Amino acid sequence: MGSDKQKILIVDDMPMNIKILNELLQEDYLTYYATGGRQAIEMTSVIVPDLILLDIIMPEVNGYEVCRTIRGNESLAGIPVIFITAMDDDIDESYGLNIGAVDYITKPFNPSIVKLRVRNHLELKKQRDSLSKLAAMDGLTGISNRRTFDDSYRKEWSRAVRMKSALSMIIIDIDYFKLYNDNYGHIQGDICLKKVAETLRECLQRPADLLARYGGEEFVCLLPETDSNGIVQIGNHMRGSIETLEIPHERSLVSNYVTISLGGSEARPDPDILPEIFLTHVDSLLYRSKKEGRNQLKYDVFSANHT
Ligand code: GH3
Ligand code: MG
Ligand code: MG
Repeated sequence: MGSDKQKILIVDDMPMNIKILNELLQEDYLTYYATGGRQAIEMTSVIVPDLILLDIIMPEVNGYEVCRTIRGNESLAGIPVIFITAMDDDIDESYGLNIGAVDYITKPFNPSIVKLRVRNHLELKKQRDSLSKLAAMDGLTGISNRRTFDDSYRKEWSRAVRMKSALSMIIIDIDYFKLYNDNYGHIQGDICLKKVAETLRECLQRPADLLARYGGEEFVCLLPETDSNGIVQIGNHMRGSIETLEIPHERSLVSNYVTISLGGSEARPDPDILPEIFLTHVDSLLYRSKKEGRNQLKYDVFSANHT
């Protein structure tokens, strides 16, 4: 069972200090601990904490180095770090804040003040998290937005180059949606878009698969480590699922119901191919689906030689 409690990583080479902080915080938060800098960094690849309480003087890897490592790692950089240290000099404090800690607490500390500072920083962390979640999402449909897709696409492309693995993409467009809006009105159009997005999302199984709203009535689906067999399976499942919704569309020229057209392709990314070229290629397959009758999937395996 998941817990919505926020996670705190306590890092100190003295077990007694960990014990004190743990007793102070374990009631309200999930606490984890590490007794050295290296162990702390290793732990962040398993659990991503919402806050790190970090001692400075530790043998081998010290707190400053841990803080710099966290700040330099894109997926960890948003974690607030609070130094808890016996180094009570102004110079130490300004150094700690300067390398990116959000706060600096000197030992011996007052437990209730530590608790309140932790609470305040975690409250801010929670607000930042929900804002960045909103910024990644399409407001109408609740799925990822174009910006999230662009970011993921860049990352997945580089990853596929590195791993020499397949990367597939499907672009999906609702058929005669302008006529749908004209006939049923914009509000009904919005309801239809939401329903379509929800249904497309249900067709994806793997956690790495991404569905995003690419534009008005256009969606894009990114399938890492998936070949053209996957495109056929998922693409047909999507096409069939939308048809099965039986959303009436009396102005459509291909069906009595709302339908989608899809273009899909499998790439073997390599450093000589620009990801934009592949995207354009997938779009051209969608265009072919439209031209050759709509409510269908056109797909292929992309080769850099064919344009
Ligand atoms: P085709 O079968 O060739 O795809 O034709 P189409 O009418 O679906 O395509 P076109 O690109 O001409 O029109 C897309 C329409 O989608 C235009 C606009 O009215 C509608 N649309 C785009 N975004 C939204 C939206 O957020 N809400 C609603 N209700 N409609 C939207
Ligand atoms: Mg359309
Ligand atoms: Mg369109």
